[in-house]
Amino acid sequence: MKTTGNIFGSNHFNTIGSWLKKEFGCRVMKLSLDAGFTCPNRDGSKGTGGCIFCSEDGAGHYASDIPGQIRLLHNKWPQGSYIAYFQSHTNTYAPTETLRSLFDQALSQPGVVGLAVATRPDCLPEDVLDLLSEYERRTFLWVELGLQTIHDSTAQRLNRCYPLAVFDQAMAALSARNIRTVVHLILGLPWETREMMLQSADYVGALHPFGVKLHMLHVMRNTALADLYQLRFSENAGADFYWHIFEQKEYIDLIVDVLERLPQDITIHRVTGDAPPEELLAPLWSTDKRSVLNGIQKEFKRRDSWQGRSCTVP
Ligand code: SF4
Repeated sequence: MKTTGNIFGSNHFNTIGSWLKKEFGCRVMKLSLDAGFTCPNRDGSKGTGGCIFCSEDGAGHYASDIPGQIRLLHNKWPQGSYIAYFQSHTNTYAPTETLRSLFDQALSQPGVVGLAVATRPDCLPEDVLDLLSEYERRTFLWVELGLQTIHDSTAQRLNRCYPLAVFDQAMAALSARNIRTVVHLILGLPWETREMMLQSADYVGALHPFGVKLHMLHVMRNTALADLYQLRFSENAGADFYWHIFEQKEYIDLIVDVLERLPQDITIHRVTGDAPPEELLAPLWSTDKRSVLNGIQKEFKRRDSWQGRSCTVP
């Protein structure tokens, strides 16, 4: 894809915040919701115990009610609008009538201009796809897919419980319905080299989703990953065990490499994480989010670079 230089100003990359501001003409904020879903990886239909990095609340540490969140945000940014973000666990893992009722309820709240629905690629049966297609026509919508890695060997060890082919099918089905997709990748997974992480980024870049969410791997207490973290220097971790835990500078370098390779029009939804410090085992430097974000800007500046600079996607 042709790169047009740094069109992102001091950000150096296409942040979803800036993109939404242009699209809606105001600040658009996400309301993080826990609609009470579970996940096929936890309830036994695909697996038990969940993905090894996932804590019991399924990534919904800050999820709370819509009116409460709107009240708080409205006090700070009275001109803002909201996207109802169904974040915790698998938000299409229910009958379509239940989903419709939840989505309609969210859209009826003052200032809510759209929906973001996080799910698994193996939880998008035909009737759910049709429902999402209906919301795509009615409102602003994106669907988030937790891919994490393109490497099935890693995915199996993570207990993700679906192969890459299922993700490919889901992407094709969503794209055939013009539904925006946001793909999650985790950087820093055990059993993965830096090269493998870049391969995941290249693969996703070539599919050209609406957005990409780059997560730093957080080792959270009371997860299977936390057990592995304790075992990492022992023989019990397995003969082919490999896990390089990034220092802050290494992580920043990798993020900038990834962003340089992604097409410029892909929106970037996250480049670091927000783990509750009391539950985080590693990496502890990640709690200083500001320092990570500043480091990324500095590295772009040092390289005189921007998102898409070395993108080879046609
Ligand atoms: S699919 Fe998502 S919610 Fe389910 S266990 Fe994995 S990370 Fe957690």
